[in-house]
Amino acid sequence: MSNEKNLSVQALARKNVQELTPYQSARRLGGNGDVWLNANEYAIAPNFELTQQTFNRYPECQPARVINRYAAYAGVDPEQVLVSRGADEGIELLIRAFCEPGKDAILYCPPTYGMYSVSAETIGVEGRTVPAKADWSLDLPAIEAALDGVKLVYVCSPNNPTGNIIDPDEIRAVLEMTRGRAIVAVDEAYIEFCPQASVSGWLQEYPHLTILRTLSKAFALAGLRCGFTLANSEVIGLLMKVIAPYPISTPVADIAAQALSPEGLALMRQRVAEVTENRVWLLEELEKCACVEAVFASDTNYVLARFTASSAAFKNLWDQGIILRDQNKQPGLSGCLRITIGTREELRRVITALQALPGAAAASINEKQNSPRKEHM
Ligand SMILES: *Cc1c(COP(=O)(O)O)cnc(C)c1O
Repeated sequence: MSNEKNLSVQALARKNVQELTPYQSARRLGGNGDVWLNANEYAIAPNFELTQQTFNRYPECQPARVINRYAAYAGVDPEQVLVSRGADEGIELLIRAFCEPGKDAILYCPPTYGMYSVSAETIGVEGRTVPAKADWSLDLPAIEAALDGVKLVYVCSPNNPTGNIIDPDEIRAVLEMTRGRAIVAVDEAYIEFCPQASVSGWLQEYPHLTILRTLSKAFALAGLRCGFTLANSEVIGLLMKVIAPYPISTPVADIAAQALSPEGLALMRQRVAEVTENRVWLLEELEKCACVEAVFASDTNYVLARFTASSAAFKNLWDQGIILRDQNKQPGLSGCLRITIGTREELRRVITALQALPGAAAASINEKQNSPRKEHM
């Protein structure tokens, strides 16, 4: 009987929700690890204390101090900033504001971040893919040919999980071909690790440019759930129509403002320097591991590597409490695992575990030569 009831509830759900595969977040995947290198978090919790105690009152919809500080940090006007519950909410707000369910489409270029497709599916909007080229640059002619009905193009730069910056000339080409046709969302979740690559200075030139940012990565605040959308005020105004009335709780605004203070920014930049040093070390050590076929250059707080036997490597480390992210199912990433840059001690444990694994059979030498880019830095 309860079975029948469950079935009828299932049948009540929207069809696209019935068919939806939820995002496999690192936390959902679980595991009993003590070295968490699967969600691109910072390894050590920063210290904050609440200064606001007015919990009887509703918060400001767009807390002014947070908006002003983020605008100053990003070098844009406060009218060009929206704060939301993580960058993930920004991804969804854009679809809700610009895409008609069952009619319009979003476009993105796999291998890339998984939430673009999940948000589109949830809302009932087509997710159209134009795979990146073998060297992970954008396939511009294919994007242009696929733009019919597309209202929103997501470009992740630097890209998750590959770690490469998308050439600014390619982003510009996408902005030119979409002028008057579609919004372009450049996902800069990791931009603090390569600030020179930001396109935030282009907002004046492109009314349809939007940029997604977050406090979850370089700011070490994934648990806070705070992200930003940068765009011209016309776009921000439309997003404000669809955002919840009180998206940012009082404690979140309090801590976000502190993280964006001059001291908070200095700490962030220290973390970036430390993560970058650890990434260089990890890359060099991975290169020497027999079980590693290719290591890909990264401008982020993670590294992607191709393994001779990735499932075995993943399981072996998992059993030792070291949790990585399997990217094997993504187009073009067979045999690839993503490793978040943790503390030096955590990375030593990764390398020690990998050194114990067997190397490639002779046959894979060919594959090594054909891999997209084997680079040291
Ligand atoms: C982590 C991540 C996000 C999500 O950031 P939140 O602010 O934690 O929601 C968005 N885009 C990319 C590419 C990410 O890696």
